[in-house]
Amino acid sequence: MDLGRRCEFHAHTFYSDGVLCPMELVRRAFVLGDGALAITDHVDFTNIEHVLRQQRALKGNVSWDIEVFCGVELTHIPVDRIAGLAAKARRLGADIVILHGESPVEPVEAGTNREGVSCADVDILAHPGNGLTAEDAAIARENGVFLELTSRKGHSKGNRNVARVASRAKAMLVVDTDAHEPGDLITQEQALDVALKAGLSRADAIRVVKGNSWELLERLRER
Ligand SMILES: [Zn+2]
Ligand SMILES: [Zn+2]
Repeated sequence: MDLGRRCEFHAHTFYSDGVLCPMELVRRAFVLGDGALAITDHVDFTNIEHVLRQQRALKGNVSWDIEVFCGVELTHIPVDRIAGLAAKARRLGADIVILHGESPVEPVEAGTNREGVSCADVDILAHPGNGLTAEDAAIARENGVFLELTSRKGHSKGNRNVARVASRAKAMLVVDTDAHEPGDLITQEQALDVALKAGLSRADAIRVVKGNSWELLERLRER
């Protein structure tokens, strides 16, 4: 089964709490076989301009065969400030906007998931956890917000609920690593395994790791 090249949409560098500089992250993703990588460091009101300005300096300087996108993960933002900051990220030139969802292992404010799926400027609701509801997933589908299955320890405790709720609502799923260090990056086969362990059928898991991620890639290319 040819799963094609992997697209990783959620990864951190030392501009937030990752350990690698951006170019090393790109290099390692490329050598592992990724065809696309989005760098999405944690941001809030204090560092969003700085992080995007730094990451955008990569543009035009990655001459290996991997597409690089610059973005942000809006992290622990008060619910009533999410839409404003997501719009600001897009204005500042973010190719992709991720919202840090209601992970089972962090005290994320209740209501964050609902705000994320309702926000036109959010591309991915990351690790939405066990609190993700059928209504959230229906709104995500309506607005084209991708719901994330994650290979990251802790956050992944919510994967089974996310897969079940998203499948029923026919919302789009994507598998991300949320990589913070080199060993967190995964191959397409490992991504397929994450989707299968979340409870998806093989056909659905393949659709998620191939079709869905390419669909999101197309969206980013058009920006
Ligand atoms: Zn982090
Ligand atoms: Zn993250």
